[in-house]
Amino acid sequence: MNAMKSRYEAVIGLEVHAQMTTATKIFCGCSTAFGAPPNSHTCPVCLGLPGALPVLNRKVVEFAIRAGLASRCTIAPRSVFARKNYFYPDLPKGYQISQYELPICIGGHLEIETKEGARKTIGITRIHMEEDAGKLIHPGEGSGYSHVDLNRAGIPLLEIVSEPDMRSADEAVAYLRKLHQTVVYLGICDGNLEEGSFRCDANVSVRLQGAARFGTRAELKNINSFRFVKQAIEYEIERQIDLVECGGTVVQETRLFDSVSGVTRSMRSKEEAHDYRYFPDPDLVPVIVSAEWIDEVRTALPELPEAKIDRFTTALNLSRQDAELLAADRALADYFEACVAVHNNPKGCANWVMGEVLRGLNESGLSVAACPLTPENLGGMVARIDDGTISGKIAKTVFQEMWDSGKSADRIIEEKGLRQVTDSGAIEGIVDEIIAANAEQAAQYRAGKEKVFGFFVGQVMKASKGKANPQAVNDILRHKLAQG
Ligand code: ADP
Ligand code: MG
Ligand code: ZN
Repeated sequence: MNAMKSRYEAVIGLEVHAQMTTATKIFCGCSTAFGAPPNSHTCPVCLGLPGALPVLNRKVVEFAIRAGLASRCTIAPRSVFARKNYFYPDLPKGYQISQYELPICIGGHLEIETKEGARKTIGITRIHMEEDAGKLIHPGEGSGYSHVDLNRAGIPLLEIVSEPDMRSADEAVAYLRKLHQTVVYLGICDGNLEEGSFRCDANVSVRLQGAARFGTRAELKNINSFRFVKQAIEYEIERQIDLVECGGTVVQETRLFDSVSGVTRSMRSKEEAHDYRYFPDPDLVPVIVSAEWIDEVRTALPELPEAKIDRFTTALNLSRQDAELLAADRALADYFEACVAVHNNPKGCANWVMGEVLRGLNESGLSVAACPLTPENLGGMVARIDDGTISGKIAKTVFQEMWDSGKSADRIIEEKGLRQVTDSGAIEGIVDEIIAANAEQAAQYRAGKEKVFGFFVGQVMKASKGKANPQAVNDILRHKLAQG
């Protein structure tokens, strides 16, 4: 079976729809906010009423340019909106305004890391702007009717089409994650897969290894999780190989992935482009993008993950592993940098962010944006560790208290009296008491039983309520125990 499978090679190309985070829709002033009552964010334009005319949202063009620059595309100085004609109840105009022959971005690429750790370039064929359709709501089997919610109609989308450059489900997922990270970093998409802000159609075909031509592709529609993309593609590759091995042929069609049963099912035979009768939309003028505008957008482009990782490793001296972890999520990277801005100890701050902060967020199911502990307070706490005011152990207590109460470290240290005792006189007093109270163990230590030392450290720390400076405790104990 495996020998048979290894004779084949999978070919995968992805089409991704990313919903833009503009405040208003692409051709009208309606809100793009998610979750409003059905049809409350609509107007004659997005309802497709006769005579209403679309006006292009400039922000959408800017976002498309950002995406194009970040993926090394050429930005077309002139691009054109086209009507993609088809009938469906969620599309009141009977056509979708999209771009076809002249999209705004062409010929770019993104770099991924393969499972084997190698770098691979995935080509981006094109990026174009288009409007989303509405949503059908089916109240249930046998109700005899369906609802249409047009709040989503006219929400701006970028469609990002890749070259058929991926050769496994893992590569497809790596590309998809990279693209997701990029649009979120650029601040043009919220990246929320559950709400459908970032969804993917996967085109999959198989061919014999070394074959010159691609096989016929099936298109897997609207997959909205990284895990399902992997499952759907893996299932589809197997299905096609089995089919070809049994003498069948793959037909070009659209298939749906059923995440419950883990299989893909035929939905409809795939429309050819000419079925859509594309033509330039006469209601919209061509989109002209000047070189100055492109420069302006390029200058304002946020720092992208690779550049951030480089800076974290060189300027801040973090390990590559730490830098990658922090830079994976822009919000987390910003949080970390806000900590460092308060207290310039990158490694110290990074450890708390990657450790306790991520743990806390995980446990409470919160995003970085909703973190109850401010980076300023965390930076303030790391400063108190570094200047010896509190020990690393006491810091755990302060951390939890900051998380729960929102108070600053300084305030908590004062209120709870958590200041570390470094005064050697005070520590000596405690040490004397502990040694006196445990004469037997002291004798054992002097007789060479080194293990008892830990017992003494524990006792002194306990007596000081954890506030004694551990290094001072060690030094004083060694000294006093040796004295006998
Ligand atoms: P359509 O809108 O008809 O799906 P597009 O050109 O927009 O066509 O998208 C085609 C997608 O399919 C691209 O991502 C492309 O890389 C991919 N693709 C094209 N041919 C194949 C193939 N033989 N096998 C796998 N993917 C393919
Ligand atoms: Mg397609
Ligand atoms: Zn509207």
